[in-house]
Amino acid sequence: MDDTLCVIPPETPLEGFVSLSVPVYRASTIVFPDAASYRSRGNRGPDGYSYGLSGTPTTRTLEAQISKIHNAERAIILPSGQAAIAAAMLTVLKNGDHLLVADNVYPPVKDFANEVLSGLGVETEFFDPTNTADLQARLRPGRTKLVWVESPGSTTMEVCDLPFISRLSKTSGALVGCDNTWATGLLCKPLELGVDFVAEALTKYVGGHSDVLLGAIILRNMELYRDIRNTLGCLGVGASPDDCSFALRGMQTLALRLRHVGEVSEELAHRLAENERLSVLHPCLASCLGHTLWQRDFRGSSGVFSLRLDGVAADAVDQALDSLKTFAIGNSWGGTRSLLAPMVIARDHHAMSFSETTYLRVSVGLESVDDLWRDLQRVADLLR
Ligand SMILES: *Cc1c(COP(=O)(O)O)cnc(C)c1O
Repeated sequence: MDDTLCVIPPETPLEGFVSLSVPVYRASTIVFPDAASYRSRGNRGPDGYSYGLSGTPTTRTLEAQISKIHNAERAIILPSGQAAIAAAMLTVLKNGDHLLVADNVYPPVKDFANEVLSGLGVETEFFDPTNTADLQARLRPGRTKLVWVESPGSTTMEVCDLPFISRLSKTSGALVGCDNTWATGLLCKPLELGVDFVAEALTKYVGGHSDVLLGAIILRNMELYRDIRNTLGCLGVGASPDDCSFALRGMQTLALRLRHVGEVSEELAHRLAENERLSVLHPCLASCLGHTLWQRDFRGSSGVFSLRLDGVAADAVDQALDSLKTFAIGNSWGGTRSLLAPMVIARDHHAMSFSETTYLRVSVGLESVDDLWRDLQRVADLLR
């Protein structure tokens, strides 16, 4: 009796208990009220609960919230942004298929294509997302199954024409996927611009505090939704409800944080751009590739932009980083702390013009603007 009581606590009435937070439901096992429901568990479909791997009510609440922000049908939460992109690609692409990837995407996505998909018989080609003729020339009707873009691009910040790319790809029979991590659903809703599915690293702005890794796939196509859920079941990949609960908390301040870092990043980018020696890349600047597309398709800025360092010596970059008082040095972004990170980016869409450039990526956090500006002024002086 006591042993049983240790395992099965007395039922506690929930009557009279109402809180504002979403409970953390942890589960591997899901139990069934009777034999018939156990037998028919396969009919519960990808949204129902039959095993903890595919989610608990905590996961589903986050999924529903993100899906609604995008005017989507469903969202799927995964353990990281990179996992979200990889799982979607593995679902859509088969042996013999052709994949087109914009050459300004998050670099590990290029590695996934080159190192994993190539071994599965998927051929990847990179294209220039700011040149629609380049995409048109590379689309292979019937063979190109997916066109993958990121807008604005990681670190190099070009905004691409999502409605045009979507129309063009669709006429050739390819799906279009888009990484929307920079904007989140609050600043851009790519599904409304014609994209088939969206991936986001919730690690960044949704998590918002640099302490959780999560990703999402957001979509309207229910067949693709079921297929991706199936891939995840086969891979044995699912997100932790505890992590989802951090993301649910982050969501509550997302709009406020984004408005703040967006305003500050625009302000800092404009101030830096007054210095003629600096090449500032921020879609709010008229000089940035895709600025008018950003004005058309986005509702504002988030907090990430960059400086292109042409001909700056590596030790000058190191000196600049070592002079920082408020910014921290680090990768990832979207938290409360402002970050700077040098990034070496290889652009290889034109086989003949392979080149590597160093960028300094700026992620604005929640510190005082004056302190951030003092750091950036010192950095600008040292980047000679
Ligand atoms: C960080 C990031 C990812 C990957 O997210 P993780 O959760 O760190 O795996 C994907 N795309 C973009 C644009 C990112 O910035």
